[in-house]
Amino acid sequence: MTTTVDVIVLGTGSAAQSAAYPCREAGWNVAVVDYHPFGGTCQLRGCDPKKVLVGVSDLVDWSRRMQGKGASAPGLSLSWPDLIRFKRTFTDPVPEQTKRSFEQAGIITRHGRAHFVDRTSVQVGEEILVARQVVIATGACHADLGIAGEDLLTTSTQFLDLEELPRRIVFVGGGYIAFEFAHIAARAGAQVQVLHRGSRPLAKFDPDLVSMLVQASRELGIEVHVNRAVTAIERQGDHLLVHARTGAQVHTVEADLVVHAAGRTPEIDKLDLEVAGVAYGKEGVSVNEYLQSVTNPAVYAAGDAVASGGFPLPWVDLVIRHPEPTYRNGRPAWLHTPDRCVVQGRIVPPASSFIQLHLAQEGPAGTPVDQYLTKEDGAFELLAPQGAYLLRWWSPDERVIGERPVTLHTWRCEIDLPLA
Ligand SMILES: Cc1cc2nc3c(=O)[nH]c(=O)nc-3n(C[C@H](O)[C@H](O)[C@H](O)COP(=O)(O)OP(=O)(O)OC[C@H]3O[C@@H](n4cnc5c(N)ncnc54)[C@H](O)[C@@H]3O)c2cc1C
Repeated sequence: MTTTVDVIVLGTGSAAQSAAYPCREAGWNVAVVDYHPFGGTCQLRGCDPKKVLVGVSDLVDWSRRMQGKGASAPGLSLSWPDLIRFKRTFTDPVPEQTKRSFEQAGIITRHGRAHFVDRTSVQVGEEILVARQVVIATGACHADLGIAGEDLLTTSTQFLDLEELPRRIVFVGGGYIAFEFAHIAARAGAQVQVLHRGSRPLAKFDPDLVSMLVQASRELGIEVHVNRAVTAIERQGDHLLVHARTGAQVHTVEADLVVHAAGRTPEIDKLDLEVAGVAYGKEGVSVNEYLQSVTNPAVYAAGDAVASGGFPLPWVDLVIRHPEPTYRNGRPAWLHTPDRCVVQGRIVPPASSFIQLHLAQEGPAGTPVDQYLTKEDGAFELLAPQGAYLLRWWSPDERVIGERPVTLHTWRCEIDLPLA
């Protein structure tokens, strides 16, 4: 069977959705394809479920640290099975909701693994989908490490679904997934080690902040080992042995669970990109500034499948601080009115586009109310009430091309932004 549409979108995650819906709204016939349940990594097995776990761990951590300082909750602990059950109340409805939402928008949905059969056609099962344009939004998957016993590794997806949390956990790799999960696991009572191959974990993050985080991790009881390359994993009885090296020195660690936190790689290897004449590299599909394949102009790519190094998403730098104190008897008095925070920042738009930043707060009836606007070299400063917002950025023709949730507290900002 052959189905002809205007645009095929491969994937159903954040990148796929940000292409599929506007194309459909513009009157195009759109088909989306995914071999996983619909919704993508962020909603089902990445950011969102992780934040549920982080949120509860944060609460437990705060309560423990405030013991004897006015809070009293002796023996407060984190119940892993309850936590995972709670997490599922967020993730379980996503595939059905996502599929329904596509279908309500008039978008054709197909479940299965797609691969190119010519420059603008893909095969899914027995069906051929033919289009004028194809968007590759197939995301990323765990990198192959090429070590013995690799199949004994638990992926981040499996970690987020563990029924019980084992006692001894080793994270292979020292990236953000390792640190976030290590902190959750340690607060849930596990003995945790992070084995990182390089000399500095979280290499893309600010070195001073990383040093503070490593120090705080160690104080929590997490063992962070650097220059430790994992070479093999082996089963021994009811536990696992993790073999690692520092130069010529060999280390072996016993664990009940070994988690793959050693990087993700664009999931493009089974797409038969050569058949479509789409150039790619280790970092993903090679694109120009319009996210268009540099070798096949009918193909675009977005999200984790792209070799863009973050481009062309805007780069946003935010600082949250209390309003300037008013002084009373020579003493700062802002602590008496800490319901507003000053947000300072700069937004650096990608080349060849003009971007405005809105902080939009959901109105009482669910209508977004645009509250703030930035211009002039992207620099802005505003006084915002505490609350949950959406940061939005817009193209010159006034289309919303990106948004991220942000929560402003007077003492901190929780923001989910792509790294530059
Ligand atoms: C544990 C974890 C925590 C994270 N936390 C954060 C965070 O806090 N903040 C943040 O910004 N980012 C976070 N990320 C990264 C974020 O989830 C990704 O950057 C984002 O989801 C990528 O979106 P995407 O649309 O490019 O791909 P995805 O959402 O991965 O969607 C790609 C989809 O394509 C499908 N697909 C692949 N190949 C094919 C094929 N051949 N045919 C059909 N379908 C195919 C896949 O099944 C998948 O559903 C996290 C990731 C993980 C794993």
